[in-house]
Amino acid sequence: MQSLPAQERAAATRLTDPRMSLASANQPPPFEGRNLYLTHRALQDAVAREGAAWAHERLAAWGATLGSAKTFALAARANRYTPELRTHDRFGNRIDEVAFDPGWHELMALAMREGEHSSPWTEPRVGTQVARAAAYLMHAEVENGTQCPLTMTYAGVPVLRRHAHALPWLETTWLPHALARDYDPRSLPVADKTSALIGMGMTERQGGSDVRANTTRAERTGDGAYRLTGHKWFFSAPLCDAHLVLAQAGGGLSCFFMPRFLPDGSRNAVRLQRLKDKLGNRSNASSEVEFDGAMAWLLGDEGRGVPVIIEMVRHTRLDCVIGSAGLIRGAVAQALHHANYRQAFGKTLAEQPLMQNVLADLALEDEAASALALRLARAFEAADDGADSALARLVTPALKYWICKRAPPVVAEALEVLGGNGYVEESILPRLYREAPLNSIWEGSGNVMCLDVQRAARREPMAVDALLAELALVRGADDRLDRHVAALTTTLAGHDSAEADARRQAGAIAVALAGALLVRHAPAGVGDAYCASRLNDSCAGVLGTLPAGVDRAAIIARALPE
Ligand SMILES: Cc1cc2nc3c(=O)[nH]c(=O)nc-3n(C[C@H](O)[C@H](O)[C@H](O)COP(=O)(O)OP(=O)(O)OC[C@H]3O[C@@H](n4cnc5c(N)ncnc54)[C@H](O)[C@@H]3O)c2cc1C
Repeated sequence: MQSLPAQERAAATRLTDPRMSLASANQPPPFEGRNLYLTHRALQDAVAREGAAWAHERLAAWGATLGSAKTFALAARANRYTPELRTHDRFGNRIDEVAFDPGWHELMALAMREGEHSSPWTEPRVGTQVARAAAYLMHAEVENGTQCPLTMTYAGVPVLRRHAHALPWLETTWLPHALARDYDPRSLPVADKTSALIGMGMTERQGGSDVRANTTRAERTGDGAYRLTGHKWFFSAPLCDAHLVLAQAGGGLSCFFMPRFLPDGSRNAVRLQRLKDKLGNRSNASSEVEFDGAMAWLLGDEGRGVPVIIEMVRHTRLDCVIGSAGLIRGAVAQALHHANYRQAFGKTLAEQPLMQNVLADLALEDEAASALALRLARAFEAADDGADSALARLVTPALKYWICKRAPPVVAEALEVLGGNGYVEESILPRLYREAPLNSIWEGSGNVMCLDVQRAARREPMAVDALLAELALVRGADDRLDRHVAALTTTLAGHDSAEADARRQAGAIAVALAGALLVRHAPAGVGDAYCASRLNDSCAGVLGTLPAGVDRAAIIARALPE
C-alpha cells in the first residue's frame, strides 16, 4: 500500500476513528455561539471609520446576543411556524388578526430593545446611523422577516415628525410610542400600548412601481379626516399600529396616516384578505387588504403623496442596502467557517487553491458590501443641503440596485461551499438563499433604481459632484480605479444616456465607490484584489475567478469569523 502524506493520514485516521461519533465525523463545530461583531473585522473597521467607534461595546454585546445558539433557534422557529391569519373570532366578529410564533415576538423584543427601529432618532450624535446600520446588518445575518416592521417604523418617524405640526397627536402620542423600546404586540388602541409600529401601503394590484396607477380613493369627511376605499396588494406587517398609505384624493395621489384602531377605540375598516405564500421572508406576514371606508388623516397636501412618502422610502432603501450586506456577510461567514474545518482530499477546503479563490472572492463581496452600507449610513446623517446628502441622493439607488443584486449569487455560491449541508434547512443557508432576492424587489425594483440613478445624475449636478469628490480622494492610488473613475465621469457628464444603459451606469457607480473605499481603507491586498477583479468590463462574473497574484490567504484570514 502506498504511504499517504502526513496530513492525509491524519484526516483518514480521524474519519475512521471509532471513538468519533458518526455525527461529528469531518463536520465543523456549530457556527452558533460566536460574536457576530467581534468576528467581523471589516464591519468593526467600517464602524470606527464612519464615526461610531463609541458604539463598540454596545455592538459587541448585540453581536453576542445575535450570534448565540438561542437567537439562531428563535430565528429558525419563527420561519418554520409561520404567521396565521385570523379574520374572525369564534362569534363571527371580524378581528383581522395575525398569530405569530413566540420566536417572532422574542426577536422583535430583542431588536426593539437594541433600538433598531429608532436609535438614530433618540440618540442624535455623530455615527448614530452608522451604529444602527451595524446592528441591523448583524441582525440580517440571522433573521430577516422581523426587520420589515423595524425598518418601516424607523423610516416612518421622519415623516411623522415633519407633519406633526398639522396633527398634534402625532407628536404627543404616536411619536413617543414609535420611538419606545419595549415591544408591545397587543392589538389595542395606541393610547393603551407602550410602543407602536408603523408600516406602509403603496402597492396595488394594477401597479407597484408606477404608484400613479393607484385607484384607492380617499374622500374627505366633515371632521378633517378621510375615508379610504380600495385595496393594497402587498401590505406587510399588517399588525403595525398604523400605516402610511397612498390614495387618490380630489387633488391627486396623496399620503395618509391610517391607524389600526380609531380614536374611539374601535377597529379601523382595514380588512385582511389573505397572507401571501412567499418564497422567503416567511416569518413576516405580508397581506392583501381591502379598505372599506377606513379612516385616515392626510399628511402634507393633496396631490403630494409621493414627495411625502419618499422620505420613508429613502430610509427603507438604505435598509435594503444594509440588509443585503448582512445577508452577504451571514452567508460568507457560514461558508468560511465550514471550509475552515471540513476536509476533502487530505486538506481542509480552505487550503485547496480553487476553493481559496472562491472564498477570497466571497470575502471581497462581504468587505465591499459592509463598507458601502456603512458609508451610505453615514451620508444619511448629513444636513439636507450638505454634500453627503447630495451623495446619498445618487448613491442610495445605485447601491440599492447593486448590493441587493449581488446578494443572490453570493449566497448561492456560499451555499455550495457547504456542499450538501448547504442545501439542508438547518444550515440556515436555504433560508438566506430564499431571502436574498427580496431586497432587490421591494422599495423599488432593480430597473426602477437604475432609472432613478439616471434621473439623479441628470437633474442633480451636486449629487454627481459629491460622488466625484469622494472618488477623487483616492486618485492616483490605483491605475485601474483611476481609469474606471475617468470613464464613469464621462458617462455621468453625458445627459443623454440611454435608459437601456442604466444598469451598467448604476453598477459602475457602486464598484467605483467600493473600490475607492477598499483602496483607501482596507488592507492593501483587499483593495488590490477588488480592483483587479471588479473594475473590468464584466464587473461581476462568476465568483471564484480572481486573477493570479491576489493574496487569497490574507483576504480569507481577514474575513474568517473566528
Ligand atoms: C414580500 C413582499 C412584501 C412587500 N411588502 C410591501 C408593503 O408592505 N407595502 C407596499 O407598498 N409594497 C410592498 N411590496 C410590494 C413591492 O414594493 C412591489 O412588488 C415592487 O415595488 C414592484 O412592484 P410590482 O410588483 O407592481 O411590479 P411592477 O411595477 O409591475 O414591476 C415589474 C418589473 O418591471 C420592472 N420595471 C418597472 N418599471 C420599469 C421601467 N420603466 N423600465 C424597466 N423596468 C421596469 C421592475 O423593476 C420589475 O422588475 C412587497 C413585495 C414583496 C415581494
